[in-house]
Amino acid sequence: MRFTIKDGILFSSNTIEDSLPISQIPAIQPPPLNPDYQYNRKLQLLLTGKQLLLDDIPFPLNEIQSHYENGYVTYRQGIVYKGKQPACARCGNKDPQWFASYPCARCGETCRYCRQCIMMGRISACTPLVGWNGPVPDTILPANNSQWQGTLSQGQLEASNRVVEAIHQNQDHLVWAVCGAGKTEVLFAGIETALAAKKRICIATPRTDVVLELTPRLKAAFPEITVASLYGGSEDRHLFAPLTIATTHQLLRFYQAFDALILDEVDAFPYTVEESLQHAAIQARKQVSAIIYLTATPNEKWQRECRSGKRAFTTIPARFHRHPLPVPEFVWCGNWQKRLHKDMLPANVLSWINERLQANKQALVFFPHIRLMEKALPILRQFEPTIEAVHAEDPDRKEKVQKMRAKEIPLLLTTTILERGVTFPNIDVAVIGAEDSIFTESALVQIAGRAGRSKEHPNGMVTFFHYGKTEEMIKARRQIIEMNREGVKRGLLDR
Ligand SMILES: [Zn+2]
Ligand SMILES: [Zn+2]
Repeated sequence: MRFTIKDGILFSSNTIEDSLPISQIPAIQPPPLNPDYQYNRKLQLLLTGKQLLLDDIPFPLNEIQSHYENGYVTYRQGIVYKGKQPACARCGNKDPQWFASYPCARCGETCRYCRQCIMMGRISACTPLVGWNGPVPDTILPANNSQWQGTLSQGQLEASNRVVEAIHQNQDHLVWAVCGAGKTEVLFAGIETALAAKKRICIATPRTDVVLELTPRLKAAFPEITVASLYGGSEDRHLFAPLTIATTHQLLRFYQAFDALILDEVDAFPYTVEESLQHAAIQARKQVSAIIYLTATPNEKWQRECRSGKRAFTTIPARFHRHPLPVPEFVWCGNWQKRLHKDMLPANVLSWINERLQANKQALVFFPHIRLMEKALPILRQFEPTIEAVHAEDPDRKEKVQKMRAKEIPLLLTTTILERGVTFPNIDVAVIGAEDSIFTESALVQIAGRAGRSKEHPNGMVTFFHYGKTEEMIKARRQIIEMNREGVKRGLLDR
């Protein structure tokens, strides 16, 4: 799209001679707000706190333009140039390798675009990001908005109080809760506080599965509140709501929208993606706002910041059922890869597995790579033909997890895809090749966190079979032991 400027106002133009793509137009001051203008309330609901492409807005361009001319709609550059270096205003990408050019029909030029956020619609040098600058929609709230009846453990309650306080005071706060502590319940009081203060609140999480699982729980807890549930292809895309649950990708469509942003499982991404996630989070929250981070496994930098007092945080060191976390045991298993290439597994691994099969105890067995796991599968099926294996690209992934839950599979081999998010009530856990670099401290803590989840079966064995102990293994075990120690000290564990 091309614009001309007349009296400091942008007008779309089709003639190349007197117009420019938006990225080449220096500092655009939005026109002043005309208080007498009759704005469209549907457009207001759609655009408040957003940054959308024109393609995402089901209103005619002349109506959008008229709102802009009267100060209600803003146009920002989608791609911002610092000298010759492009930066994507939506996802924060600055890496030249993640930009490409194409002959663009909209501006008639060779147009630079961002490849990093293209799944949310293409942002190119001639793309305006459209936002709202008018009054904020009124939200009418019921007097008593929470229906949540559950009780909190002592550890959850302490964290819940800190979350409430952080939301009140617009602070940053990290909740470091062990796997199985019940971190969702810790949010309810904070959400209620935010809603009561007419604050707009969002829970963002990297995984669609989590959005789908959380949506009904939050709708049940806040039955009279509009809840928008956002993920790729969701129906609520244009719904204005005081409470939003979204994948972190969907945050890219928001701009200075939320008074409180809750980021779940911040560690679940590799560093590069985390950077664009951080950018999305910073853009989606208001300048004065609270941000709550939830994780079981903060990265090393964050752990350091917690220890040195630079980061405000609360730990929940104990699970809801008040039993300690299973501590991983380290077992040397020699050069297991070499054995695997001869279609064998180390004797101690085999006997670990056979013991479980004989005792009818379900188990998850983690492998560092699909190839190695698929080599192990036929070997193990000689003992028990119903053993299954699962990995990220497996089309039957969901079915296999279901069958495991229904106890139709005695033993499930897996890659790190099942390191988080899945709960089986009564399992033992083994890692084969725990020395592999894919098994970071946080991955190993998450994996160990699969065992002993239910109140009925709070114990489970966690065994790391290795061909040489790594620093990551040691740090993971230390983290688990320290959490158990803190749980004892704070009286959160029954002994
Ligand atoms: Zn273009
Ligand atoms: Zn981008």
